[in-house]
Amino acid sequence: MNIFEKIITGEIPSKKILENSKFLAFHDIAPKAPIHALVIPKQSIKDFNAITPELMKEMSEFILEVVEELGIKESGYRLITNIGNDGGQEVPHLHFHILGGAKLKWPELI
Ligand code: AMP
Repeated sequence: MNIFEKIITGEIPSKKILENSKFLAFHDIAPKAPIHALVIPKQSIKDFNAITPELMKEMSEFILEVVEELGIKESGYRLITNIGNDGGQEVPHLHFHILGGAKLKWPELI
């Protein structure tokens, strides 16, 4: 099991923000911004390449609930999903990063 699967089962603790039967949102353990949340599906999906339109729709709706809960829907935020080696994905379980709480820079990427 990868680390996010262990978070889903509760084997590894997390700072939960929101949860429903299909998705979980929790705070990133090493935040890169004042607010750094992760949103994951509970079903096992490796990355965005494997997503279906149905899952994307439901995940988008859940992400919007999370940004409302975090109070950053109007102030703005960044939504990122890293895919594969070049994308810098470390955990092989689909996740969206939600970054906010400050005016974010647009970093040099390479
Ligand atoms: P990625 O590089 O896109 O795969 O992102 C993985 C993210 O998971 C990183 O931002 C890590 O800081 C975060 N992370 C790793 N372990 C944990 C954990 N136990 N709880 C919360 N976030 C974690």
